[in-house]
Amino acid sequence: MTKKILILPGDGIGPEIVAQAEKVLAYLIAERGLKVELDHGLLGGCAVDATGVPLPDETLVKAKESAAVLLGAVGGPKWEAIDRPLRPERGLLAIRSALGLFGNLRPAVLFPQLAAASSLKEEYVSNLDIMIVRELTGGIYFGEPRGIRTLDDGQREGFNTLVYSENEIERIARVAFDVAGKRQGRVCSVDKANVLEATELWREVVTEIAKDYPDIELEHMYVDNAAMQLVRTPKQFDVILTTNLFGDVLSDLASMLTGSIGMLPSASLASDGSGMYEPIHGSAPDIAGQDVANPLATILSLSMLLRYSLVEVQLADHIEQAVSQVLTDGLRTKDIHSVDTQCVGTDAMGDAVVKALSSLS
Ligand code: NAD
Repeated sequence: MTKKILILPGDGIGPEIVAQAEKVLAYLIAERGLKVELDHGLLGGCAVDATGVPLPDETLVKAKESAAVLLGAVGGPKWEAIDRPLRPERGLLAIRSALGLFGNLRPAVLFPQLAAASSLKEEYVSNLDIMIVRELTGGIYFGEPRGIRTLDDGQREGFNTLVYSENEIERIARVAFDVAGKRQGRVCSVDKANVLEATELWREVVTEIAKDYPDIELEHMYVDNAAMQLVRTPKQFDVILTTNLFGDVLSDLASMLTGSIGMLPSASLASDGSGMYEPIHGSAPDIAGQDVANPLATILSLSMLLRYSLVEVQLADHIEQAVSQVLTDGLRTKDIHSVDTQCVGTDAMGDAVVKALSSLS
């Protein structure tokens, strides 16, 4: 049966950057024998405008029928003041939860051509290749009770709950150990077990699961130390396994080591191998509609989609090589442009990747 890919462009720069990934998909379908059925849907602010909710039922039905979802980004100032349950970001959390996307893979890879764009000196980041495996559907972002309440003395109090079950910890630990097995074989599990009981259990369960993976080296690190080590000697890490909240923060930190937020893809996986793929950046309303957004994170997200959900490993490798080639050719969008490179727009960058891809058959 032909596999389906659902495309959700979203808001802000979402439609522009997703259009570039669609050019790559169109090329792979027409010229490289990729057999997939494409469909489109609404998520985020555009869905609020069209249907009144950020995740319409129709989108969720289509997503559940698909092997993979390719997402641009959601949100923007237009929807910041509306009721909290209707905000675009709630649609994103809801689709991740409804699809059971518990395993978030966020690579922090530095293309050697962009070494100068890193916030660290080149010697600390050259050939940097870290994979952050973040738990995505549990922890404090989903724990109940949560809210803002008024106390007896009239003061307001905000509260959230950090909760992790053994099963939730075990399944994300297994993702991390499997990923490490295909890389350098090292997992660093990041927690705050000295203060938070939920992550004391996290450490216990991860240690237990590690016994099933005798070839993988496991280390534990407190999150405050991990943040420091990521800036001090980032190349010490291979796979970082961590909770939803810690992963959110550490993966953004790691992204800056690679130079630009516009270069980094992500995958969010369910237990059946289906997944949602999106750049790590947001909808960048400040540059939307100007043909300046960097589409490479979205194109690299498509590469992850082909690798993990469609198991088209060669096509995935070729997309990464094509991206590397356009960088070697000196093409840069504005966010990664420097004096000795050629500044191109979003659309031209997409065309250049397709051209580079066509020379790699
Ligand atoms: P952002 O990632 O959208 O932008 C941060 C900065 O990076 C901006 O200066 C932007 O111009 C730049 N940038 C981002 N992507 C770029 C690209 N591809 N090329 C060039 N420059 C790029 O973060 P923000 O400004 O904090 O958030 C804007 C909106 O996006 C908010 O509504 C936020 O809630 C939403 N958001 C959505 C997601 C998502 O859809 N997964 C993630 C983060 C933020």
